[in-house]
Amino acid sequence: MHKQADALVSLSVAAQKTLQLDVYKRRRIEACGVLIGSIDETDNWQIEAAHPLRNPFDSPVYFEFDPEDLLHADLLYPGHVIGAYHSHPTGFARASSTDRKNMKRINVAQRIPWVWLIISGPFDRAPTLVHEEHDFLSILPVSSYIAYHHYADTGLQQIALRFDDE
Ligand SMILES: [Zn+2]
Repeated sequence: MHKQADALVSLSVAAQKTLQLDVYKRRRIEACGVLIGSIDETDNWQIEAAHPLRNPFDSPVYFEFDPEDLLHADLLYPGHVIGAYHSHPTGFARASSTDRKNMKRINVAQRIPWVWLIISGPFDRAPTLVHEEHDFLSILPVSSYIAYHHYADTGLQQIALRFDDE
């Protein structure tokens, strides 16, 4: 799989903090949630925040959103739910076949332009100082994050990630 040449996902510090805390707190299961932000005129995703949602399956290898939780998030951030994230606590650093099916269904069949973020473990180090704005320590290596989008014409593509420092 090649990267979509010009597409980009940027992650704010606030989003990075929430994601690191969530995948660590729920390190025994697949943590999951939605990504809040905006899509610019050239179809790049700017993620401002992450909003954790329950994984009703409590599984280390599977997640699903509760439809009511998703609806609630949509009402909370109308028009700003632009993607979804989940963790792979076992360390599998790419989309599973289930993930790929879901991405295609939502991006192509349902025409919802979400970006998909997968964060792979292990998550054995507690994020520290993440509450201090100036002392944010990124515990996870950049390679823990991978982003995807399933385009109608070119299929599933990996999307470049940018880690903002504010
Ligand atoms: Zn997955």
